[in-house]
Amino acid sequence: MPDADAQPVDAGPFGKWLAAMRAVLRGERDADVPCGNCIGCCVSSYPIPLRPEDVRARAEVPEAFLLGRTGSGERWLMGFREDGRCPFMNERKCGIYADRPQTCRDYDCRIYAAAGLVPDGERPVIEQRVREWVFTFESDAQRAEAAAVRRAARFVRANAALFPASVRAGSATAAAVLAVKAYPVFMAEVAAPPEQLVRRMLELVREFDAAQ
Ligand code: SF4
Ligand code: SF4
Repeated sequence: MPDADAQPVDAGPFGKWLAAMRAVLRGERDADVPCGNCIGCCVSSYPIPLRPEDVRARAEVPEAFLLGRTGSGERWLMGFREDGRCPFMNERKCGIYADRPQTCRDYDCRIYAAAGLVPDGERPVIEQRVREWVFTFESDAQRAEAAAVRRAARFVRANAALFPASVRAGSATAAAVLAVKAYPVFMAEVAAPPEQLVRRMLELVREFDAAQ
């Protein structure tokens, strides 16, 4: 739904963004988001996974905000303050920017705009920014890719129950990530049965992940 307060913010050329986002998802680079004054990620009640490589961040998290292991091995979650702010957020700045967790480095809210989604939960600051992003298109090929990403995301949202539970396709984030990884399946209007499209998406996702 259009937001009356939304002011357009340049998200950059779609093709360049898509290639960079795919590289981020492959672990080849950090995200480079023109956030400007937005601090949505850091004030939106996000528990942040701490990966094994987040050694310095993990060492600095106050005990009260370490929520415990997730899954197996040394995986922890960093909690947030009662008002939703990250414990490292001071005066609108990250107190451990140089050592911030990899999850913070990977986050790019333009993925929701590209997929035509907003994050799950009550995250109005991020939602506002997602509605503000406007991509530019340098070719019809980029427009076709953008349309395919949106079709893929819509498909995942409508058919989440057909995906394996491990994919957690019911979340907006997972739908957006799946769409960015497997959008080529939707480069043309696809009339195949949903089960077949799910299989093709999962094949592409496996290939994408194997290329990491
Ligand atoms: S919500 Fe988006 S624009 Fe805002 S800080 Fe996070 S990534 Fe940057
Ligand atoms: S660690 Fe820094 S970048 Fe990450 S959520 Fe906290 S304040 Fe934001």
